[in-house]
Amino acid sequence: MKGDKPGVTPMMAQYLEIKAQYPDALLFYRMGDFYEMFFDDAVAAAEALDIALTKRGKHDGADIPMCGVPHHAAEGYFLTLIRKGFRVAVCEQLESPAEAKKRGYKAVVKRDVVRLVTPGTLTEDSLLDARRHNFLAAFSIVRDEAALAWADISTGALHVTPMAPVRLGPELARLAPSELLVAEGAEGNVNSVADDMGVSITSVSRGSFDSVSAEKRVSALFKASSLEAFGTFGRAETGALGAIVDYLEITQKGKLPLLQPPVREATQGVMQIDAATRRNLELTASLSGGRAGSLLATIDRTVTASGARLLERRLSSPSLSIPDIRRRLDSVSYMADNRSVAADLRDSLRKVPDLDRALSRLSLDRGGPRDLAAVRNGLGQAGELAERDFGELPADLAEARMSLEGHDQLLDLLEDALIAEPPLLARDGGFIAPGFDAELDESRELRDEGRGVIAGMQAQYSDQTGIASLKIKHNNVLGYFIETTAKHADAMMSPPLSETFIHRQTTANQVRFTTVELSEMEAKILNAGNRALEIEKRLYDTLKGAILECSARISTASKALAEFDLASAMAELAVNENWIRPDVDDSRDFAIEGGRHPVVEAALRKVGDPFVANNCDLSGGDAASIWLLTGPNMAGKSTFLRQNALIALLAQMGSFVPADRAKIGLVSQLFSRVGASDDLARGRSTFMVEMVETAAILNQADDRALVILDEIGRGTATYDGLSIAWATLEHLHDVNKSRALFATHYHEMTQLAGKMSGVDNATVAVREWEGEVIFLHEVTQGAADRSYGVQVAQLAGLPSAVVERARVVLDALEKGEREGKAQKALIDDLPLFAATPAPVAAAPSGPSPLQEKLEQVHPDTLSPREALNLIYELKELA
Ligand code: ADP
Repeated sequence: MKGDKPGVTPMMAQYLEIKAQYPDALLFYRMGDFYEMFFDDAVAAAEALDIALTKRGKHDGADIPMCGVPHHAAEGYFLTLIRKGFRVAVCEQLESPAEAKKRGYKAVVKRDVVRLVTPGTLTEDSLLDARRHNFLAAFSIVRDEAALAWADISTGALHVTPMAPVRLGPELARLAPSELLVAEGAEGNVNSVADDMGVSITSVSRGSFDSVSAEKRVSALFKASSLEAFGTFGRAETGALGAIVDYLEITQKGKLPLLQPPVREATQGVMQIDAATRRNLELTASLSGGRAGSLLATIDRTVTASGARLLERRLSSPSLSIPDIRRRLDSVSYMADNRSVAADLRDSLRKVPDLDRALSRLSLDRGGPRDLAAVRNGLGQAGELAERDFGELPADLAEARMSLEGHDQLLDLLEDALIAEPPLLARDGGFIAPGFDAELDESRELRDEGRGVIAGMQAQYSDQTGIASLKIKHNNVLGYFIETTAKHADAMMSPPLSETFIHRQTTANQVRFTTVELSEMEAKILNAGNRALEIEKRLYDTLKGAILECSARISTASKALAEFDLASAMAELAVNENWIRPDVDDSRDFAIEGGRHPVVEAALRKVGDPFVANNCDLSGGDAASIWLLTGPNMAGKSTFLRQNALIALLAQMGSFVPADRAKIGLVSQLFSRVGASDDLARGRSTFMVEMVETAAILNQADDRALVILDEIGRGTATYDGLSIAWATLEHLHDVNKSRALFATHYHEMTQLAGKMSGVDNATVAVREWEGEVIFLHEVTQGAADRSYGVQVAQLAGLPSAVVERARVVLDALEKGEREGKAQKALIDDLPLFAATPAPVAAAPSGPSPLQEKLEQVHPDTLSPREALNLIYELKELA
C-alpha cells in the first residue's frame, strides 16, 4: 500500500507510482508553479539543462536529489531536453489543492501524465521551425515486405510508402524525420542507418505494428469501415500507419491530433537520391550543418510557412511524372508572365498565418484565442484571393483556387466573435468581441460598472475622512482595500470613522481598511468577472468546435495557399535570377546551355564576382554521355559537376533552372560522390566510405541515372586510386550506361576518351601568366595539359622559398619523366595492376636512391601537399 511504506511520504509514493509507468522519460512532476524532477531524473535534467541540483526530503534514509523549472518557462526546457535525446513525460495537477483537501486532510493532489513530449510529436510554435516539417516516422517490416509511414502532427499530414528494406536509408534521408518508431527487437534493422541520419529511434511494442489491429485502429480514427476507403495498403504499410496512430494515442494521452487520411506515396514516383548525394549536394542543409548555404535557403522566396514546407518537400522529392512536372512548371510560368498579379498575390499571402499548425494545436487542446484568429485571418485572405481576377489559371492553380472558396459561414462567425488581436491564452478572457454575446456583454458591464463605482468611492471616502491621500487599491491577497499612511491610523481606528472603516492590515508605512460597502461591491465585480470568464471559455469551445468541424476543408485551403505561394515564389526567383523553363521529356538527353550553380553564383555576387556559365551535353547518340573532366584544383570542376545535378533536380521538382536553355530527359536516380574528404566525425576510414559509396552507385545506377563523381580514388595511393577510378568509369560506361560527369586529377585517364565511344574529355580552362595561374572557370573540350599544383600552392600562400624549391624539383621530375618511360608504360601496358618490381639494393654502379625515387614520381598525379612531402623525402635521400 502506498504511503504505508516507512519513510515514503504520500506525495513521494504518488511520484514513484507515476514514474514507474514512464521509465524512459524524464518525469516533469507539477507542483504549484513548478515542474519538479527527482532522483536520477533530477541528476540528468540538472546536467542537461545546466540548472541547480538540490535535495528535498529523504527516501529510504537517503537524500532525494531534486531540480525544478518554472512552469511558464517549461517549453524552452522541453526543447533543450529533446535536442539532447531525452523524452519528457508531463505530469499535471488534475485538481486544486483546495479540492484535494475536501477529500481529506492529508490527501495528495491528483496528478497524472497528460502528455509525452518526444521529438516527433511537438506542436508548439516555439519548439518548431515554421518553415520545416517535423515528421514522426514508423518503419515496419513483414517478411521481405517493408513500409515507412510518416506524419507531421503539427500539420496533420499522414503518408505511407511501401519499399524494399534497403531503401530505408535513402527514404529517411529524403524525409529527415525527427523520430522513428520501430518494433521492439527490430531495432537492428535500422540502428546504423538512423544513427547516421541523427534520427531518434523509439522502440514500441510489436503489437503496435500488428496489421490486423492496426487496420482497426486506423480506420476507426478516420471513421471508415475499412482502410480500403483510402487505397490499397499492404500489411507492412498498414502496420506502419497503425504504429503511428498508436504512438500518438500514447503520447497525446488519447487526444488525437487532426490527422488527414493516409496518402500512399509510391517511391517509384520520385527521383531516387540517397543520403550521401543529398549531403554532398547540400540540398536542404550545407555541409557545415545549417540551412544557410544550402540550395533550399538560396532558392526559398516563399512568404508563408506552409509554402516554405511545400518547397522543402518538393525539393526533397523531385518528381518522375512528366505531366506533374509540366503542370508545376505551368504554374511558375503563369506567375512569371503575370508579374503584377503575382506581386499582389504575394502581398496578400504575407498576411496568411500558419493555418495547419493553428488547427493542430486546437485539436490537441493546446491552442488559444490566437489560433482562432489565425484561422479567421487565413480564411479571410483565402476568400479574398478566391475573388481576384486571375485571368485564366493553369490547371494546378485553378484547382487550388477552388478550395479557397466556401468558408464564408465559419469566417463570418469568427469575424463577429473575435476581437482584432486576441491574447495568446484563453485563461484571462478578453478575446470575444463586444456585441457578440448579450450575456457576456452584460457581465462585463456589471464588472466594469463596479470598477467605476469603486473609483467613485475613493473620492467619497477621501471627503468623509478628510484624508486627501487616501487610496483604494487592489491586490490578490486582500482584494480591494482602502489605504492610508500610518499617521492617519489613529483617526481611522477611532470613532466615528471606525464605525465605517474596518481595519485589515498594518504594514511598515501603511494601514489598510475595508468597508461593508466596498466588500459588497467587490463581490459583485468578482461574480460578474467570473461569469464573464465562464462565458468566454464556453464561447471559445464553441468556436473551436466550429473550426474543427471544418478542419478538412481548412487544411485543403491551406494547401491551396501553399501552392499559390510556391508558384509565385519560384516565379519571383526565376525572374530575378534569370532562370528559364526547362524542357523535361522521356528522352535520354541532357543538354544544358549556359548553366550556373545557384548557390556559388549567389555567393560570388556578394563579393562582386561574376559567375561563368557553362554548357554540358550528355545526350549520348552522336554526343557523349560521359564527360571526363580534368583541370587544376580550384578551377571549378566540383562546381560544374554539382550545378548540372542541381539543374536536373530543380527541373524535376517543377522549378525553372539557372541556365539559358535546358533539355532534360527524365532522371530517375541522382548520384553524387566526392573523393574522400575527412569524415572523421563519422569515425570511418575515409577511403572506406568513399568505396562503399561508389559501390552503391555501381550496383544501382541504371541508364536513367545521372551520376557525378568528383575525384574518386583520391583517398588512397596513387596507383590504387587511378586503377579504381579507371575501372569505375569503365563500369559506368559499359554496364550502368548512365549519364555521368567524372572529375579526376588522374591525367592518365584522359586517354580513355579515345578508347571508348561516348566518353569525352573536358577541362576547365586556366591561363598561365607570369608564372601564375589565372582561373577562367570555362569548361571546354579537351584534356588539361597539366595540374598547376605548384601555382595553386603559391596562391594558397605557401612560403615562396618552398614554392621556388618545388618548381626546381618539378622541373627535374618532368625532365626525368620525359626521358624515362614510366608514365607511358602505365598507359600502354594495361592491365594496370601489374606489380612494380621490388626495389633492389643499389649496386655501386646502379642509380642512386634519389634517382630511383625520382623515377617513381608522377608529378601530374601529385596534390600540392604530396609534392611538398615529396620534397622533404627527396631532401632526405640527397
Ligand atoms: P575544383 O573542384 O576544380 O577544385 P571548385 O569547383 O571547388 O574547384 O571551385 C573553386 C572556386 O572557384 C569556387 O569556390 C568558386 O568561387 C570558383 N568558381 C568555380 N566555378 C566557377 C564559375 N563557373 N564561375 C566563377 N567562379 C567559379
